[in-house]
Amino acid sequence: MIKKKYLILGAGPAGLTLANMLLDRGEEDFLLLEKEDVAGGLCRTEYVGSNPVDIGGGHILDVRSQRVCDYMFRFLPKDKWNIFDRDSKIRFQDQFMGSPFESHIWQLPVEDQVRYIKSIAIAGCNLGTPKPEKFVDWIRWKLGDEIAENYMLPYNRKMFTSNLDSLGTYWLEKLPDVSFEDTLMSCLEHRFYGKHPGHARFYYPDREGYGDAFILMQKRLGDKFLGGVRVTSLDVENRVVNEEFTADHIISTIPWTDIEEYKGLEDEYISMIGRLKYSGIQVDYHKQPLPFETKAHWIYYPQECYAFHRILVLFNFSPRSEGYWTETNLERVDMTGSPDIKSGPGADLSYKNIYAYPHNTLDKPEIMAKLLPRMEKSRITGLGRWGEWQHYNSDVVMEKAMDLAQKL
Ligand SMILES: Cc1cc2nc3c(=O)[nH]c(=O)nc-3n(C[C@H](O)[C@H](O)[C@H](O)COP(=O)(O)OP(=O)(O)OC[C@H]3O[C@@H](n4cnc5c(N)ncnc54)[C@H](O)[C@@H]3O)c2cc1C
Repeated sequence: MIKKKYLILGAGPAGLTLANMLLDRGEEDFLLLEKEDVAGGLCRTEYVGSNPVDIGGGHILDVRSQRVCDYMFRFLPKDKWNIFDRDSKIRFQDQFMGSPFESHIWQLPVEDQVRYIKSIAIAGCNLGTPKPEKFVDWIRWKLGDEIAENYMLPYNRKMFTSNLDSLGTYWLEKLPDVSFEDTLMSCLEHRFYGKHPGHARFYYPDREGYGDAFILMQKRLGDKFLGGVRVTSLDVENRVVNEEFTADHIISTIPWTDIEEYKGLEDEYISMIGRLKYSGIQVDYHKQPLPFETKAHWIYYPQECYAFHRILVLFNFSPRSEGYWTETNLERVDMTGSPDIKSGPGADLSYKNIYAYPHNTLDKPEIMAKLLPRMEKSRITGLGRWGEWQHYNSDVVMEKAMDLAQKL
C-alpha cells in the first residue's frame, strides 16, 4: 500500500493547480493520480502537424481573474499569449448574426425584428409572472417563445441533452443578461446592449494550444504525477483507492459516477451518485479552410438537422494555424454536418470526451448538498467541475484549487 498525506484524483486544471500549490508551500508528501498518460483533462491539446487541437472543445483563458492569469503565465509566459475581444456569431437564416441573440435582433429583417420584440414584450419576466423552476419554462419566461423555439431550446438540446425537461434554472447566471430595454436599445442603436457573463476578453497562446500550459504544470510535479492509473474503487471509510493507495486526505476531481465500486459508503449516497447526469462531446478537427470568410472566434449552430452545435474558427485566435474544430454532442455524432461544414467523417483528428457537461438537473443541488459533506466527514474533498458537479470554467476551478490549497 502506498501511503501519502494527500492523494489527488484527476490531473485536469483543478488537480494540477492544487498539486502545484502544495509544492509551492514545500509540501512533498502527495501523489496525483490520472487515468490518461498525460495531464490537462478537458483542457488538453493534441497536434495535427503544427495545428493545436483542444480535445475538450474550444478552450480560452478568461481575463477576469488576475490571480489565475498570473499563475498560468508562470508556466506559459504572458508574451506567449494573445489577447482578444470576443467575437462570437450565430448561424441563423442564412446569415451570421451576433451573439447573444436577444441583443442582435436588429441584424434580422424588420418584420422578424417586430415578431421577436413582440414575443419578448409578453414574456413572463416582463409581465411580472413568477420565475419558473424548470429550464425550458425559464427560457420562455425570460426570452419569449420566439427566441425559445428558434434558438435557445434547439441549441441547448443539441449541446446538453435532448431531455431539457430534466434541467433546473439555478445555474443560469452563466447566460448573458440582456433585459427587454437592452434589446430595444440595441434595435434602435444597432449595437450590443447587455452583459456577457464570461469570455468578453480572453487569452489564447500564440503558437501553442491551451493545454500546453497544463503539460508544463505536470512536468513540474515530476514523479508526483502518476499517469495511466484509472481510479475504479474507493474505500471511503479507510480512504483507500484501487486497494493500492491511501492518504490522510483525498481530494477528488474525477466524476463520482466514474468510480465503479464504493466501499464503506451508505446505500443512500451510492443511489445519489447514480442520479448525477452528464453528457459527452466529440471534437473533430478539419485542416481544410472554411468555405466562407469570417472574423468570428466561434459560431453557434442551432439547426437540429446538423450534428454539431459549434465551430471554433482556429485561425482567428491561433494566428499560425489553419482549419476549424467542431463540437458535437455524443448523442448526435452519427448525424451529418451542415452543407458547408463537415463534422465527424473525414476529420483530421477526432476525440470523444465521455464527460464534458455535468447536467444541472432539478435534484442536483440537493444531491451535492448531501454528498459533499458526507465525503468530507471521511476527509475526502470534492473539487472542480466533476468533484463539485458544476459548470465551472477552468479559471474558476483553478481559483477554487488555490483557495483549497490554502485551507489544507
Ligand atoms: C466544450 C467545452 C468548452 C469549454 N470551454 C472552456 C473555455 O473556453 N474556457 C475555460 O476556462 N473553460 C472551458 N470549459 C470548461 C473546462 O473544460 C473545465 O472547467 C476544466 O477542464 C475543469 O477542470 P477539472 O480539473 O475540474 O476537470 P477535467 O478537466 O475534466 O479533469 C478531470 C481529470 O480527471 C481524470 N479522470 C477522470 N476519471 C478518472 C478516473 N476514474 N481515474 C483517474 N483519473 C480520472 C480525467 O482524465 C481528467 O484529466 C469548457 C468545457 C467544455 C466541455
